[in-house]
Amino acid sequence: METLYFDLRATRVKQQDITEKVGEAARILRQGGLVAMPTETVYGLGANALDADAVARIFEVKGRPQDNPLILHLSGQQWLPRYCANIPPLAFALARKFWPGPLTLVLKRRNNVPDIVTAGLDTVAVRCPNHPIALALIRELGLPIAAPSANLSGRPSCTTAEEVMADMGGRIHGVLDGGPCTVGVESTILDMTGPQPRLLRPGGVSIEAIETIVGPITVDKAVTGQLPDGERPKSPGMKYRHYAPRAPLTVFSGAPDVTAREMERRMCPRTGIVCFDEYKELFQYQETYSLGPYHDTAEQARRLFPALRAFDESPCTEIYAQCPDSRGLGLAVGNRLKRAAGFRVVECDAQRIILGLTGGTGAGKTTVLELIEEMGGSVIDCDKVYHRLLDENEELLFEVRRVFRGAFTIDGKLDRKKLGEEVFAKQDRMALLNRIVYRYMVPYLEDRLGAVVEGLCAVDAVNLIESGLGRLCDATIAVTAPIEVRVRRVTARDGIPEQYARLRISAQKSDEYYRSKCDYELNNAADTPEQFRREAKIFLRRLIEGLQEEKRYGKKKGRVTRE
Ligand code: AMP
Ligand code: MG
Repeated sequence: METLYFDLRATRVKQQDITEKVGEAARILRQGGLVAMPTETVYGLGANALDADAVARIFEVKGRPQDNPLILHLSGQQWLPRYCANIPPLAFALARKFWPGPLTLVLKRRNNVPDIVTAGLDTVAVRCPNHPIALALIRELGLPIAAPSANLSGRPSCTTAEEVMADMGGRIHGVLDGGPCTVGVESTILDMTGPQPRLLRPGGVSIEAIETIVGPITVDKAVTGQLPDGERPKSPGMKYRHYAPRAPLTVFSGAPDVTAREMERRMCPRTGIVCFDEYKELFQYQETYSLGPYHDTAEQARRLFPALRAFDESPCTEIYAQCPDSRGLGLAVGNRLKRAAGFRVVECDAQRIILGLTGGTGAGKTTVLELIEEMGGSVIDCDKVYHRLLDENEELLFEVRRVFRGAFTIDGKLDRKKLGEEVFAKQDRMALLNRIVYRYMVPYLEDRLGAVVEGLCAVDAVNLIESGLGRLCDATIAVTAPIEVRVRRVTARDGIPEQYARLRISAQKSDEYYRSKCDYELNNAADTPEQFRREAKIFLRRLIEGLQEEKRYGKKKGRVTRE
C-alpha cells in the first residue's frame, strides 16, 4: 500500500491547501481508510470511530492487543451527549477548562459506539485535541475519530510525521504532517464514572491543574507502579509493555545529582545516556540525549519520545535515563520512562542516606552509632581508615616520610609510637600530618561511599569537618553533652580519676566548635542512657525521613553553614 504524505507544516502551506488536503484525508476516513494525524500530544492513527471494520484495521496495523480500547476524538464538548451517558457535571466543568487539550475523560458509553472501540467495556474514553489539523479533520468528517498513538504497538510514540512514516509507512493510507507535537506525551486519562475522579494515566495535563477544578483526585495503582500479575487495571493499556526503545533501558530515579553519579559509576563505553541539561558535561564522552533542564518538565515531555528513539540507529547496547520527580508533567514523563524500561528502575537515593557524626569524648557518639547499626545502617570508623591508610598506602607513606623522617626506622618502616610522640607534642606538626592524611582520606571515603547505593551509612570522624569528609555526607551531626555529664561518663567508662577526665576533655575541641560547624546538634542532656537512646532514636528517624523527602523532591541540601 502506498502511504500518501500530506505536508501541512504551518510555514509551508496556505489555508486553501490545508482545507483541500484535510478534505482528501476525510474522504479516506469516510471510505474506511486509516490516516495518521498530528495532535498536540503525539501523532494519532485515526479511523472513523463508528466504522467497526476500519477501527479493527487500527489494531491490525499497530499490532495492538484487542483488549486495549481507543480514545474517541471529538470536535468539542457539544458532542459529549451523542456518545456518552450519565455525564456528571464535573465532566463538563473539566471539558470547559481543558478542552481542546490533553485531557481524556472516561464516561459511560452510548450504544452507538462500536464494541471494538471500547474493547467491550461499558465506558468510553473521549477527548478534544488541541491541534488545528486534527480539529479540522474531525469537523470535516463530521464524526468522532478513534485514534491510538501512531506507533507500532510497544514502541515509543511518534511526535513527528517522519517517525510515523518509519513505523507506519506502507501500512496506512495517509499521514498528515503538522510538524512536531507541542506537548509530546499522551493525554491524561481521568475516569469520571466513580464517586471521585480517578487518574488512570498521567499525561499532558498535570494532576495539580486538574485538582484546582475538581479537588483531590484518586491516583490509580497502575500509574505509579507495576501491577501484580493477574490484577486487572482500570485502564487496559496500563498492563502492556510500552514505549520501548530497541536497546534495553534502565531508569535512575532520585535526586538528579545522585542519579547522575550513579549512572556515571555504572556506565560502560557503549551506554547511551538520557540526562538533564545540567549533567551533559559529566557524560561528554558518551552518546548522550538531553531531556532539557531539570526543572522544565514541559520540555522533558517534548523530548521524551525522541530520546527513546534516538538510540535506535546507534551502536549503544543499553540506555540509562535520569527520571524527573513527579511534579507537574514529571509524573507523566517518569511513568513513560519506567514503562519503557519494563520497570527496570534503580531507586538511587530512596534510602541512601549518609550521616556524618562527630563530637568529643563522653558525649554519646558511640550510642548514636550503635543506634544507626540497629537501624540497619553501616558505620565507617575513620580512625580505622586512618590507620589502614598509614599501613597500606605507599604514596601516603612516601609523603609522610618526607616530612617526618624521625618517625621512620632505618629500613624505612613507620614507627607509629614515634610519630605519635612528635605530633602530640607539637600542634603545628599535628596539623601538617592531618593535612597530608586528609588528602588521601577524602578520595578513599568518596570511593567507599560511592559503592553504597542504598541504605543508611554513618561516617564517624573526630575531624569530620576539618578533613572535608563532612562534604560527602547528606547531613553532619554534632553529638554534644554538658561538661559535667561528660566528665562523669568518662570517669566511669575508662576508670580514671576525675581530673584526668577533665584534662582529656579540655584537650579536645569544645562542644561550641562542633555545634557551630555541623548541620545538626544532638545534645545529650538526658538523665539516663536509656532516655538518651530514646531521644536519639526519634531524632535520627525524623532526620532521615526529612532527608529522604528532600532527595525525593530534588531540593538542594539546606545546609546551615556557619563559619
Ligand atoms: P493510546 O491511544 O495508545 O494512548 O491508548 C489509549 C489509552 O486509553 C489506553 O491506555 C487505554 O487503556 C485507555 N482507554 C481507552 N478507553 C478506555 C476506557 N473506556 N476505560 C479506561 N481506559 C481507557
Ligand atoms: Mg500508545
